[in-house]
Amino acid sequence: MPLTEDQIAEIAAQRSVSQPTMRATAPGMEKHLYTAYEVLDHGFVRVIDYMGDDAAIVQAARVSYGAGTKKSRDDSGLIRYLMRHWHSTPFEMCEVKLHVKLPVFVARQWIRHRTANVNEYSARYSILDREFYIPAPEQLAAQSTVNNQGRGAVLEGAEAAKVLEILKGDAGRAYDHYEEMLSQEGQAGLARELARMNLPANVYTQWYWKVDLHNLFHFLRLRADEHAQYEIRVYAETICKIVADWVPAAYGAFEDYRLGGVNLSAKALDCVKRMLKGEAVTQENSGMSKGEWREFEGLLG
Ligand SMILES: Cc1cc2nc3c(=O)[nH]c(=O)nc-3n(C[C@H](O)[C@H](O)[C@H](O)COP(=O)(O)OP(=O)(O)OC[C@H]3O[C@@H](n4cnc5c(N)ncnc54)[C@H](O)[C@@H]3O)c2cc1C
Repeated sequence: MPLTEDQIAEIAAQRSVSQPTMRATAPGMEKHLYTAYEVLDHGFVRVIDYMGDDAAIVQAARVSYGAGTKKSRDDSGLIRYLMRHWHSTPFEMCEVKLHVKLPVFVARQWIRHRTANVNEYSARYSILDREFYIPAPEQLAAQSTVNNQGRGAVLEGAEAAKVLEILKGDAGRAYDHYEEMLSQEGQAGLARELARMNLPANVYTQWYWKVDLHNLFHFLRLRADEHAQYEIRVYAETICKIVADWVPAAYGAFEDYRLGGVNLSAKALDCVKRMLKGEAVTQENSGMSKGEWREFEGLLG
């Protein structure tokens, strides 16, 4: 359960109040405001605030005096043009602030995206909850034999049970010791900033994360991709659904050109042209390395 009854009540109270504003609002995003969408076993993503909508991108691109919109077909055409030509600054005019609860090992991958503003829950100041990410059985996979950064077949039976027992046992023991170190009878106990250090990387943390739409798209392109680790990918996929409702035209362009589109090298483009002319192109006469050719074939299906 990622949220307590009190926290759910607090969110409901916040959602029950609305204020008139002259600022642009996106109806698709208003419906998501404050709601926590569950991710993994104890995590969530929720929108705390946002600025801008599709029209704000168009407005900035045209440096307009008014709302900046012409016909919505013209607007989405312009947004697609901007996305296609990497004209990125108009997308930076939109911002979103998220509250995310996530395991520490996921946070370590996430924080590598430096173009955001972050404020994390302080485990120097507060005591962490007894919450650890334990993978669902279908995510408990063996090391991949073909991809050093990936997973292979799902573990089953006694092997899976043993891994789960280790994960749960270690987490529980570490948390017991954490509590024990914090509260030495009759004494002050170890400082929170030190007691936390033996907690495993699957303990949950939380942060507020604010980012503009251009950099959010960059994050989503990398982390909603099939090569990203499942545990961060599910957060990215949750955010994708929210962004699709917030800025439907921009998200549509992003989905088309970035998520679903690919970049071709000059050599790969040349191969496509030769194939279209009916030439039998192979790895040997492509000018590409074996790895490049394998990925190229993968792209063409
Ligand atoms: C599948 C996958 C595997 C990965 N594996 C590893 C790994 O094994 N080891 C590892 O260390 N990381 C790994 N990473 C993290 C990766 O190298 C990037 O750090 C991460 O994706 C953030 O990307 P970014 O720097 O482009 O994003 P951001 O930090 O958001 O930056 C966006 C862009 O701004 C510019 N920028 C931002 N800050 C600077 C700066 N200080 N100097 C210059 N330009 C800047 C760059 O153009 C950058 O692309 C992996 C990422 C993925 C998606």
